[in-house]
Amino acid sequence: MDFRSDTVTRPTQAMRTAMAHAEVGDDVYGDDPTVNDLEQWAAERHGFEAALFTTSGTQANLLGLMAHCQRGDEYLCGQQAHNFKYEAGGAAVLGSIQPQPVENNPDGTLCFDKLRMAIKPDDFHFAQTKLLSLENTINGKVLPLAYLQKARNFVDEHGLQLHLDGARVYNAAVALNVDIKEITQYFDSITVCMSKGLSAPVGSLLLGTEEYIARARRVRKMLGGGMRQAGILAAAAKLALTEQVTQLATDHANAKRLAVGLQGIELFNINPDYVQTNLVFAKIDDSVDINLLADKLAKENIIITATNPVRFATHKDISTEDVDTLIAKLSELCN
Ligand SMILES: *Cc1c(COP(=O)(O)O)cnc(C)c1O
Repeated sequence: MDFRSDTVTRPTQAMRTAMAHAEVGDDVYGDDPTVNDLEQWAAERHGFEAALFTTSGTQANLLGLMAHCQRGDEYLCGQQAHNFKYEAGGAAVLGSIQPQPVENNPDGTLCFDKLRMAIKPDDFHFAQTKLLSLENTINGKVLPLAYLQKARNFVDEHGLQLHLDGARVYNAAVALNVDIKEITQYFDSITVCMSKGLSAPVGSLLLGTEEYIARARRVRKMLGGGMRQAGILAAAAKLALTEQVTQLATDHANAKRLAVGLQGIELFNINPDYVQTNLVFAKIDDSVDINLLADKLAKENIIITATNPVRFATHKDISTEDVDTLIAKLSELCN
């Protein structure tokens, strides 16, 4: 039982079958019918002109930023944003794009007054602010649709582009019980990860206009991300976006169940009301040796990340019984 992340999901049997039978060609020549099908289908499904299949979410975000910004340009983002904090500084290192983070509010949103103050005037002393990048879900929290509309108004007012790091945007759509387009409609570009809770072995997408995706395709080649018979991966990725979406509702219910269970353990501090999707953050009392706790759970075949707060992820390969087993073991160990 691996609670570390929703990236640990194994491909479904349907995915393995689709991969085995995928029709393939050389995607760098544009010849892979399964990749072409995925990209065309995904563009339409999410309300964009074009899509690009990428090796990872990190690559999709980097391409996304580099296709919006030139050297010396700047993007606004959250201090907690994945594409600021967890992507090895790629936008700065590889794109010469300056990040301008602002503090995230506790609900994951960014304050428009702070963003407004961070936009640089048109003056040669400054980098040129081109883009606002949001993330949804962010640390398991869903950005409200009304907030997305405000973000759209904000970027329009300031002549910026709007990007979404939507690695877990399907978790947001399922939590809000809306069609994915209700979220994507506000953005100039988005990324989606199929290799998290949606269970594909590999693959993300970048979506935007034809012209934008053409620029991103050039950068993908530059970064060594041009893949050949990638249809084998695209076949699984399409099933992620079709057959696996409903799984996320189960994952969310399991996360809530886990949060309620943890609330019942004295040494854990958590409010289940804050758990909106598949990630559960729980503070553990300082008296607990978290490494020792993780080691003891490992002996029971339960894997967690030894951090405090600890983040538990629910996903396809975690059942409701697994959640109950974890709670029982934690209660036992903490007592
Ligand atoms: C996981 C994640 C990414 C990066 O995806 P990889 O496929 O691991 O490179 C980007 N953004 C967010 C919000 C993520 O959670």
